[in-house]
Amino acid sequence: MHEGSQHTGSCGVLEKGRRTLGSISVLKHARPLVHDDEKVDWLGSWGFMAVHAAAVAGVLLVGISWVAALFCLATYYGRVFGVTGGYHRYFSHRSYRTTRWFQFVMGWIGCSAAQMGSLWWAAHHRHHHRHTDTESDIHSPGPKGFLFAHCGWILCRKYVRTNMKAIPDFARFPELVFMNRFHLLPPVILAGSMLVLGWALGRWAPGLGTNGPQMLVWGFFVSTVALYHAKFSINSLAHVFGRRRFRTKDDSKNNWFLSVLTLGEGWHNNHHRYPYSERQGLYWWEFDGTHYILKMLSWLGIVWDLNKPPREVYEEALAGG
Ligand SMILES: [Zn+2]
Ligand SMILES: [Zn+2]
Repeated sequence: MHEGSQHTGSCGVLEKGRRTLGSISVLKHARPLVHDDEKVDWLGSWGFMAVHAAAVAGVLLVGISWVAALFCLATYYGRVFGVTGGYHRYFSHRSYRTTRWFQFVMGWIGCSAAQMGSLWWAAHHRHHHRHTDTESDIHSPGPKGFLFAHCGWILCRKYVRTNMKAIPDFARFPELVFMNRFHLLPPVILAGSMLVLGWALGRWAPGLGTNGPQMLVWGFFVSTVALYHAKFSINSLAHVFGRRRFRTKDDSKNNWFLSVLTLGEGWHNNHHRYPYSERQGLYWWEFDGTHYILKMLSWLGIVWDLNKPPREVYEEALAGG
């Protein structure tokens, strides 16, 4: 079962905005259509704020070392892949197949990014594809405003629940339901591991100049905050800035810079044209790190049936969308 890329309904105001301002239709909405029940729940969002505060305060307090910077990069890109290769291309779009154990592994790595469970994430993302850039789209910068699309929707109580009806194909796996419920477990274990690793390196390899708190700050808090905003940017920036290869019925854009930050998710216009594809960069010069990793995993037999864009998509690209 795949979710369609076309939206099912449309807002008259939004359509008018698109016709008049085209790619910057987001600016047309002087007053974002954020409803009363979509207000930020500051108290309920304390964890999100605390992670940001810990990253900023931590950087000022613990300093940096090469090994901490290296682990920051590793836990950043490792978890980017969990979100892009797992949460997005597998759980949301089923663009390839794998075993139940590797499905769990991808779910765990994605979950360690502290962006809720795989079922919650994929259910919301399928909704985005059904209603892209309409008033019903939860995180469209057009009708909802840029900030709300970026992270406001994460911070309001309304969208905390997982709509299991939107993800019945994966909700039948008890281990995924468990992880979806106890979604803080993987990030807490990762944070604890960084702390212990830093402590061990400080004790047995003092020449590296690191310690527990420093590894916790860089290997968990800083990389988690960077990961939040890189992934959120696909919902916000990639619907505002970039080029449009295909004339999709939404505002999605291709943005190479975001692709570098998110291992290929910046080819968002390509993705909205054909969401079932495992690869989002259509050509070798469109960097898509997630695709390269999935390709290597397919050579090892860990994943298979990688779904490619059909010929008509390439023909459409050649014809100028
Ligand atoms: Zn999108
Ligand atoms: Zn998608």
